[in-house]
Amino acid sequence: MSNLLDTIDSVLLMGPGPSSVNPKVYQALAKSTIGHLDPQFLGLMDGLKESLRKVMYTKNEATITLSGTGSSGMEAVMTNLIEDGEPMLVAVNGYFSERLVEVASRLGAQVDKIEFPWGKPVDPSEVAKKLKEKSYKFVSMVHGETSTGVLNPIKEVGPIVRAAGAYFIVDAVTSLGANELHVDDWCVDALYSCSQKGLGCPSGLSPVTFSARAMEKIAARKKKVPNFYLDMTLLMKYWSGTPRGYHHTAPANMYYAFYEALALILEEGVENVCARHKEVHEYLVAGLEKLGLSLLVEKPWRLPNLNTVLIPQGIEEAAVRKELRQTYKIEVGAGLGSLAGKIWRIGIMGHTARKENVDTLLAALKKILGR
Ligand SMILES: *Cc1c(COP(=O)(O)O)cnc(C)c1O
Repeated sequence: MSNLLDTIDSVLLMGPGPSSVNPKVYQALAKSTIGHLDPQFLGLMDGLKESLRKVMYTKNEATITLSGTGSSGMEAVMTNLIEDGEPMLVAVNGYFSERLVEVASRLGAQVDKIEFPWGKPVDPSEVAKKLKEKSYKFVSMVHGETSTGVLNPIKEVGPIVRAAGAYFIVDAVTSLGANELHVDDWCVDALYSCSQKGLGCPSGLSPVTFSARAMEKIAARKKKVPNFYLDMTLLMKYWSGTPRGYHHTAPANMYYAFYEALALILEEGVENVCARHKEVHEYLVAGLEKLGLSLLVEKPWRLPNLNTVLIPQGIEEAAVRKELRQTYKIEVGAGLGSLAGKIWRIGIMGHTARKENVDTLLAALKKILGR
């Protein structure tokens, strides 16, 4: 009998996520499953919390991993913090910041948008102006906008939001593990990411962190958090209560893999990992330019781990991606939203972020494009 698993290719993942996985992370995934309340597993959860705090540069007690993809982190942050009718300002300059508006609105927030063109960063002075005109409970934005390849200036916006007395909510799904990100110093109150992009693990988990003042807001809610599975007060009993209480059956093997992926980052050093992403990004851009290709985003605002490449005239973009996947076993991403058909998205994240992978991709592109 044929087994479909035998047909799965080993693909070099150079899209917007998932990224390629270090063999050591696969080894961790294959360790024996133990119970989600086993003392050894609870110890591993403690280790995970500690590693996450280091990677995120935070002392936040409420720093845990959710058993769900990055989108579950987005839902968790919003559903825990928002109470009906509270005003929120969302800085919008791409597909994922549009999703912030959608998710927050569904939960009853009164959302105002401050919009910037796709491919350009959020302007902190515009956010400051808006915060002088109106009082907001929350300000939210995306750090690394995966749809456009822009790195937004969280570091500059955070202190402005804090000074205005609002809570600062940040999507770091693509940025964490590949870019400098200091949760505490940059005045971030709630932040979520995922396991499968910069952190180099398969998808399925979402690390989140909440500041002490964010957790105080949650504790003071008039009504319970409307979502049981993502309720931080319940989750914190599982992650640090005495005794530790059952909440859900955490996927032990995924937690092993995530622990290993974070250990690899800490072993290399967070700053060194970020520097490696930048270096490989510059190497990629130089190679693309040699092929006559150019990037959507101007140099100062580029997200190093996600490169948006303009499709040259006369090239059928989907055919190129198809040939990359079929002949060369390389995955790159298509454009999303209003950039569909206009760009390719080339990810160099986590274990993918190595020059040898860039060489492999550039050689394949050169052949396909006949340049
Ligand atoms: C990928 C991504 C998400 C969604 O994460 P999933 O893990 O796919 O659920 C959210 N925000 C940004 C910026 C992303 O790149």
